[in-house]
Amino acid sequence: MTIETFREEIREWLNENYTAQFKSSAEGSEDRREWIRRLADKGWIAPHWPKEYGGGGLNFQEHIALIQEFRAANVIVPPDNGGQGLNMIGPTLLEYGTDEQKKRHLPKIARGEAQWCQGYSEPGSGSDLASLSTRAVLDGDHYVVNGQKIWTSGADVADWIYVLVRTDPDALKHDGISMVILDMNQPGVTVRPIQLISGTSPFCETFFDDAIAVDLIGKPNHGWTIGKRLLQHERSGISGMGAGGASARSTEPQVYYLAELAKRYAGETDDGGIADPVFRDEIIQHRLNQLSFQLTLARTREENVSGSTLGPTTSIFKAVGANLSKTETSLQVRLMGSQGTGWEGDGFTAAELGATRMWLGSRASSIAGGTNEVQLNIIAKRVLGLPD
Ligand SMILES: Cc1cc2nc3c(=O)[nH]c(=O)nc-3n(C[C@H](O)[C@H](O)[C@H](O)COP(=O)(O)OP(=O)(O)OC[C@H]3O[C@@H](n4cnc5c(N)ncnc54)[C@H](O)[C@@H]3O)c2cc1C
Repeated sequence: MTIETFREEIREWLNENYTAQFKSSAEGSEDRREWIRRLADKGWIAPHWPKEYGGGGLNFQEHIALIQEFRAANVIVPPDNGGQGLNMIGPTLLEYGTDEQKKRHLPKIARGEAQWCQGYSEPGSGSDLASLSTRAVLDGDHYVVNGQKIWTSGADVADWIYVLVRTDPDALKHDGISMVILDMNQPGVTVRPIQLISGTSPFCETFFDDAIAVDLIGKPNHGWTIGKRLLQHERSGISGMGAGGASARSTEPQVYYLAELAKRYAGETDDGGIADPVFRDEIIQHRLNQLSFQLTLARTREENVSGSTLGPTTSIFKAVGANLSKTETSLQVRLMGSQGTGWEGDGFTAAELGATRMWLGSRASSIAGGTNEVQLNIIAKRVLGLPD
């Protein structure tokens, strides 16, 4: 079957199945559950996973086509805590998990029935992650975990957590780490949401007190390699390198919203251009960088026949993508002038208040998933081969 025929099949299936009642379904409603069931039965929540684990068995190009058609039809997909299940632990288990572990965990993710979170960072170990001190000790047939993690995104809504733990305190720091999986719903796990200045609590402190791990992924003390591989999946997802980053195909001429904002807030020339020469220059420069980035992403996707996540080069995309998003949001608030600095109140439109929050939120993009400085270190050492 050609990709175009497959696209037609997707559109036909959506026409028949994704009806108005599902499009407007409220979260938690029976209609929403029924829609997620239909998607899951088709294998289209984890389209690229093998069918035996609840996936759709699609190849990478079919997966991209499916995502593009989903985007064009605004298809609702189940929540996945920032891709923790489908894009991070899922591919890691496919690569390193036993068949039993895959059967235990993957079908639940592929049906949108399990939320996951990541227990990597600790109060004393962020960029220098390998210095982590959360301990796991083998007791009979399972590991008992003690210690603390921090910045655990969505731990308060997660059912499962994958955790990097120290299993050999006498080994060199990278060699004594393992990756384990824990059920969040057990007495030994306590979650304390961190209240941010914005009033929200997107991440938490997570405490383990004699908590029981249900699975060890890979061999004991091989967790550093597995944990790094998971970070490549994470960075690939964040920067849009995977199929999930593919945007809907469009033949419509694109109106560039920053140019429109510049005209509205900082003046328009008689012939419909941006009046302010400094903003004009910055917007053109940013747009060119953004388009180059998107084209490079598209080329990378096309060249990546197997669809498997790339290695250390993911750090290049993560770092460049983070900088682009920070430049974009900061341009947006600067264009709005004092209107782009509101937090609340009647003097601001919803878009202006949203711009302030996006600008502040975007600062995190060069920290989450490893800071930009860490990405530059990886690029220097692992991509360019420069000496330590
Ligand atoms: C939105 C968001 C979500 C997150 N979600 C999770 C999550 O779900 N699970 C989880 O485990 N963690 C999560 N984190 C934590 C994140 O992984 C860490 O914040 C990040 O790795 C940096 O660690 P740190 O905050 O301890 O900073 P530090 O490591 O203390 O770094 C401080 C500064 O020093 C710089 N620095 C440190 N070492 C070097 C070096 N060798 N060379 C050059 N510069 C260096 C850093 O770049 C940074 O600017 C999240 C963070 C954010 C912002």
